[in-house]
Amino acid sequence: MLTEPLNALTARTMDACGSPAALDVAGGMAVVSPVTGETVATLAVHSAADAQAAVDLASAAFKSWRMVPAPRRGELVRLFGEELRRAKEDLGRMVSIEAGKSPSEGLGEVQEMIDICDFAVGLSRQLYGLTIATERPGHRMMETWHPLGVVGIITAFNFPCAPWCWNAALALVCGDPVLWKPSEKTPLTALAVQAVFERAVERFGDAPEGLSQVLVGGPELGEALTDSSKVALVSATGSTRMGRIVGPKVAARFGRCILELGGNNAGIVCPSADMDMALRAIAFGAMGTAGQRCTTMRRLFVHESVYDQIVPALKKAYASVSVGNPLTSGALVGPLIDRAAFDSMTAALKEAAELGGTVHGGSREAVEGEAAYYVKPAIVEMPVHDGPVLRETFAPILYVMKYSDFDAALEAHNAVGGGLSSSIFTTDLREMETFLSARGSDCGIANVNIGTSGAEIGGAFGGEKETGGGRESGSDAWRAYMRRATNTINYSRELPLAQGVTFDIG
Ligand code: NAD
Repeated sequence: MLTEPLNALTARTMDACGSPAALDVAGGMAVVSPVTGETVATLAVHSAADAQAAVDLASAAFKSWRMVPAPRRGELVRLFGEELRRAKEDLGRMVSIEAGKSPSEGLGEVQEMIDICDFAVGLSRQLYGLTIATERPGHRMMETWHPLGVVGIITAFNFPCAPWCWNAALALVCGDPVLWKPSEKTPLTALAVQAVFERAVERFGDAPEGLSQVLVGGPELGEALTDSSKVALVSATGSTRMGRIVGPKVAARFGRCILELGGNNAGIVCPSADMDMALRAIAFGAMGTAGQRCTTMRRLFVHESVYDQIVPALKKAYASVSVGNPLTSGALVGPLIDRAAFDSMTAALKEAAELGGTVHGGSREAVEGEAAYYVKPAIVEMPVHDGPVLRETFAPILYVMKYSDFDAALEAHNAVGGGLSSSIFTTDLREMETFLSARGSDCGIANVNIGTSGAEIGGAFGGEKETGGGRESGSDAWRAYMRRATNTINYSRELPLAQGVTFDIG
């Protein structure tokens, strides 16, 4: 039971994060919590002129921030990590209120921000370039990495803050100011994070104004970032539909893009799998965050010899999973974001049934009244790999297909547009290595004996094909936020030309 109205809890949480944003602006943009379907705030939105002014301010900030030594830039991110630790409870609650995540998932999202800050602080002393052997005597060749410019970050509703931080923490140590266009469904979390960032800026002392800014509003503000030649890199997280618009626009002006788009992630359960482990991994991967993760498991290929073992157990788990208010009930599955999500789930299930699928679950649950959309996650036994199975429906639907031949299952696994995450459950070395090989999973993330969701920040995150090809977070993803220069220095008294070319002018 909440002891106060949701809008009061929202206001108190925003206040605790230090946000000065007015939450009751007449005629402003309504922010609706999926937890109850209530409007918890109405916010002032930014205009196209505001977006332009923000880009100009960020461009000015770039001129000074790029000259600050990278380890000093890292100090700001270190302080930000400290402030995030302090604000973790409040930010986690904001994520739960706005995106409907369970408390542990809300806190987990903030933890990801803290983790990437730690990573970025270390990185600030490791922005290495190579020294390269040159063919010319008395010469040295090397590469240097320089700050790139203003980074525009467009984010989706289902991860209202972590993906921003995967980008922002790296961009800031790389010397780039950031401009954040959060989802219009989750702007409060962004404003709360920005307030926490401002505390770090205050402690840091001499950061330029406008190093991090938030633009509140709809897709038109994302378009303003996409279209501006002053935004050197656009990192856009969201649907493939959005990526198809953003990608070509940025490419047309020769800007740089990181696209983190939809997935249609699958698992393969092989005869030798540890069934108990597979069951738990699939249940979390498919039902966690009510199926609203880009890495949610949406398809499952099960070998015919173990089908009658794992599928009944999965159906049982689906039937018994708790669905409820994430703020009060301790339920594992919270709400869908809105009515449109519920409608697309219903339509996909209907289409699956028309193709011969047997649907278990999927009903709307009476939680928190008419304006909130809670559903029982659905598991669908499909005779064909077709129709809605081939696309991402952003809801908790798991399509299960029986297979007899491993290679055919692998082929079907890869026969979809999305290429984000994948899993195999096996203890057979040959199957495992084949899945990870050049002819195996074609996804950016390929896992063995764990589910498709819940990636760590240390690895590069992203996927192939219609997922957009971007990589962010760990590994060498930082390179996208910098420009590389190859330098050749002649310290001899001769001028030998490369490739033995002669050009004697007298
Ligand atoms: P969405 O595409 O509707 O919106 C995402 C963001 O893009 C929002 O901020 C929106 O305002 C903005 N936007 C929309 N149209 C735009 C345009 N023409 N120009 C510029 N910006 C525009 O996505 P959503 O419903 O918020 O999120 C769910 C989708 O995001 C799913 O497909 C999910 O798989 C994907 N997602 C991908 C990742 C990943 O890392 N690959 C992570 C989270 C979510």
